[in-house]
Amino acid sequence: MISRSEPAFDVTVVGAGPAGLAAATGATRAGARTSIVDAGTGPGGQYWRGASAAPAAHLHHDLATYHRLVAGLPSVVQFFQHHVWTVTRDVDSFVVHAVDRTGGGERTVELRSRRLILAPGAYDRQVPFPGWDLPGVMTAGGVQALLKGHGVVAGRRVLVAGTGPFLLPVATGLAGSGASVVGVHEAASPLTWLREPGALVRNVTKLGEGAGYARTLARHRIPVRTRSVVVAAHGADAVERVTTARLSRGGRVLPGSERTVAVDVLAVGWGFTPQLELPLALGCATRVDVDGSLVCEVDDRQRASVEGVFVAGEACGVGGAALAVTEGEIAGAGAAGASSTAPRLRRSRAALRRFAGAMHRAHPVPPGWIERLSDDTTVCRCEEVPFGALASMRQDLDVHDGRSAKMLTRAGMGYCQARTCGYAVGCILGQDASPTSGFAERPVSSPLTLGALADSADAT
Ligand SMILES: Cc1cc2nc3c(=O)[nH]c(=O)nc-3n(C[C@H](O)[C@H](O)[C@H](O)COP(=O)(O)OP(=O)(O)OC[C@H]3O[C@@H](n4cnc5c(N)ncnc54)[C@H](O)[C@@H]3O)c2cc1C
Repeated sequence: MISRSEPAFDVTVVGAGPAGLAAATGATRAGARTSIVDAGTGPGGQYWRGASAAPAAHLHHDLATYHRLVAGLPSVVQFFQHHVWTVTRDVDSFVVHAVDRTGGGERTVELRSRRLILAPGAYDRQVPFPGWDLPGVMTAGGVQALLKGHGVVAGRRVLVAGTGPFLLPVATGLAGSGASVVGVHEAASPLTWLREPGALVRNVTKLGEGAGYARTLARHRIPVRTRSVVVAAHGADAVERVTTARLSRGGRVLPGSERTVAVDVLAVGWGFTPQLELPLALGCATRVDVDGSLVCEVDDRQRASVEGVFVAGEACGVGGAALAVTEGEIAGAGAAGASSTAPRLRRSRAALRRFAGAMHRAHPVPPGWIERLSDDTTVCRCEEVPFGALASMRQDLDVHDGRSAKMLTRAGMGYCQARTCGYAVGCILGQDASPTSGFAERPVSSPLTLGALADSADAT
């Protein structure tokens, strides 16, 4: 195990996505001894996954920013394939506890740093429905990650459903890579954006992006159905068909509007859930964002409530890559000692946050999905906990918190630690927000073996 008692770094950044890359290169440019740690094999995070590979270039946007940020990396000490499982505070520094998985092995590593920038991103928010655990039913993010990271087209005949602008790059990416996209089923109505003129006017480039996607959808003759959802997936050993239905203005399924569509993959995206295990491990303050997600509370300079900790990107609220880059730049400069935020960055962050708020208001998860679950619909896939077990626990025992639900039903106890079922369990229990934090007092950010844990404990 590598352990250093003196902080080797002024700044350590966890996460090498758009936010982390901008933060690390900004901090090192300002003269801080900087390191960056990421579980992935290289820089880019979710947005620029596989961006350095030539075949994937057509799937990416804003590669100029990616190349500019990556050009600054040589002066940053890089730890890729390092999975951070927790962070702790020492007297005058922070300790990043990671497992080094380079070369197929597993070695525990501790990095000491005076300041931390946490940029861990988000993961797919998932909403269960009958049949969602059939092979071939995938998250939109998972389908996109397969395509961008590995050049794998998830299916031949794909239906894309859910809500939010992210459905568009998923559908166009699949179509451009040879899949037949049989439809995009968007739960919201685009007219809701008309209530957000301020956000649109301040972000005209986003309108341009949207128009580009619309042209690509039209070129591939992909039908877009609004106020439409998938209510069930069917198949023997894998998904073969899905049932779609129209939604009323209030977001309820209109009886009689159901249609069946043959598919071999269903890509479903209901937005993203910020990944908060690391800020929570340090005790950083949180708040509930517009979309009901728990997010990290930060100030004007991206400082969290714990001194020396900065947070940037999706962990401060889901808002896309451009916002993540802006917040990363602000955090990098702040962690390196800047006493104020450049007005250009402050303006850009405000405009992009405004757009993010509008996006969340325009694309909520429509109500009514819980009513469509049957008692045997699986909610926690790792531990195979059905809806009926959670519903009766709530009703009979008056349980409303994730931790009790975990103890009583094992929901959230498995490998993913509630990343998949946390939102759904939170909603079923009647919580306002859907924090995975409700499931564990000391959330572990990355799975690790008992051997690595014991190794780490020996050293402390
Ligand atoms: C699966 C998925 C696919 C997506 N694809 C797209 C897309 O194609 N287009 C788009 O516009 N938006 C996409 N998004 C949304 C995307 O998250 C953001 O817009 C953007 O990437 C956010 O930047 P970020 O730096 O905040 O986070 P991310 O890009 O998510 O970067 C976070 C980084 O932190 C690392 N990390 C997290 N926790 C740890 C840990 N414990 N130890 C070590 N490393 C850690 C991750 O490996 C990752 O590289 C996707 C999201 C997901 C979840």
